[in-house]
Amino acid sequence: MIRTGDQYREGLRDGREVWIEGERVTDVTKHPALKPIIDIKARMYDMAYEAQFRDTLSYEEGGERHSIFYKPPREAKDWQDKLVAVDQVLKDIGGVVTRVGDETIGEMWSLTDGRDVLAEIDPRFAANIDHHIQAVIEKDIFHVSANTDPKGDRSLAPQDQDPDLMVHVTKETDAGIIIRGAKYETAAAYADQAYLKPTVGAWSTEKLSDYAVGCIVKMGAPGVKHICRSGFAGKSNPTDYPLANRFDEVEALVVFDDVLIPWEDVFFYRHTRAAQFVRQTLHRYSAFPYVLRLLYNADMMIGAAMWNAKQTGLDKLQAVREKLADLVVYREGINAHLTASLAMAERSPGGLLMPQQSMLYAGRVLACSQLPAMMHIARELCGGQICITPNSDAFAAEGSGQWLDKFYSLNQNWQSDDRRKLLAFARDLLNSDYAGHRLTFVQFAQAPHFNHLAAVYNSFDFSGPLDFVKKSADLSDRIDAPKQ
Ligand SMILES: Cc1cc2nc3c(=O)[nH]c(=O)nc-3n(C[C@H](O)[C@H](O)[C@H](O)COP(=O)(O)OP(=O)(O)OC[C@H]3O[C@@H](n4cnc5c(N)ncnc54)[C@H](O)[C@@H]3O)c2cc1C
Repeated sequence: MIRTGDQYREGLRDGREVWIEGERVTDVTKHPALKPIIDIKARMYDMAYEAQFRDTLSYEEGGERHSIFYKPPREAKDWQDKLVAVDQVLKDIGGVVTRVGDETIGEMWSLTDGRDVLAEIDPRFAANIDHHIQAVIEKDIFHVSANTDPKGDRSLAPQDQDPDLMVHVTKETDAGIIIRGAKYETAAAYADQAYLKPTVGAWSTEKLSDYAVGCIVKMGAPGVKHICRSGFAGKSNPTDYPLANRFDEVEALVVFDDVLIPWEDVFFYRHTRAAQFVRQTLHRYSAFPYVLRLLYNADMMIGAAMWNAKQTGLDKLQAVREKLADLVVYREGINAHLTASLAMAERSPGGLLMPQQSMLYAGRVLACSQLPAMMHIARELCGGQICITPNSDAFAAEGSGQWLDKFYSLNQNWQSDDRRKLLAFARDLLNSDYAGHRLTFVQFAQAPHFNHLAAVYNSFDFSGPLDFVKKSADLSDRIDAPKQ
């Protein structure tokens, strides 16, 4: 059953231990750094109840309505429905948020695909996977992703340093396992639960390891401590930093101080082969909504640069049009990969419909790796005024205001107020602390660049190019034989 925004907020008041800037937060829904993003997630919940959005954001099954975002994709329409739903949400809130549920649930669906492999390795936990995927649908649970440990000195095995630098199991009890360690997690402080799994590292050469654990962790469970980074919201005037104040998705170092994970929440434990398998398939669905956000990000860059060119009359110059076209090529490149990955979608081992993998992963590399260059073009097109323009108080004040009005009014259509607003928007998109943070988010939040490339390498079918060259270069059949 779908939740309301207030039910979601109420769920966050579960006594969870959240810290920010050295202060214990008593109610996350009210803290200035967290309230804006919690309000957006709550708005997503509420939208599904509104007549205008009801049929695109939810669907009916078994007499109940459920979130369209959490419906496992079985046919092409399921993906199209999700595209429309994301579009409606982002247009309603007027910005881009990524880790709001639809982008993390795919990690759970990839567990469905791994069910048989995991059951073969250790049959105890297979039923837990089905149970949890169903629970997300039925209870409309907001999930986040817990992969990255602090890790410490990478040249050492975790056992050879402080063992807590990577999450591990310290004890088994009748009730479940006890875990210790920490993970970096976006949105953890205001989510319901996280799917925790290991970063495969130096320990995974062993067959069995206490570090090979995959499970659900409730974000308000005893022993879970969220130590948030400083937020951007509430630190500046929203008129001058309109994105930072509304869309900041706060990360936390989430510490697990001997946290009990009930057996029914465990997906795999001790078998390093299971951990490796899970890592390989982790993003096969969730890369799609992740890359989709970059399409909207590209639209924001194009819109900001194009409005600026229109304001200043620079859109008449061919050289400026070519730079705008570079942004469009980037945008359409992302669009093409996403569209093709759905047009060529593949049946997964678990019977779901997954975007064609090498197309999707190649799109992720394009979208993430080219973002710095595209932000540079957009920034360059907007000009230096995005960083030297005085703030809104200066525009309003007697004494400075009339001068700013004079120099920022461009013509009859473009008066200083709109000029100031556009420059403030572009600064927050391209040049502010928040803009830099979002760029880093894109580069890392769904694994770093080398990992994105490994996904392309592992999913691309090399047989086509190999056969083509074999024939064209007239290579002998001997080369197909295994090495002696
Ligand atoms: C904004 C933001 C949000 C995040 N959100 C989440 C989240 O929600 N959940 C989560 O689990 N994690 C999250 N992360 C963590 C993210 O997954 C990690 O930053 C990422 O996995 C890299 O780990 P690291 O930062 O420890 O870098 P390191 O492991 O220290 O790596 C640093 C660099 O060294 C190089 N390098 C390291 N190992 C290799 C290798 N094997 N091959 C080639 N090059 C290598 C790469 O250039 C790499 O970028 C987030 C990170 C950021 C910045």
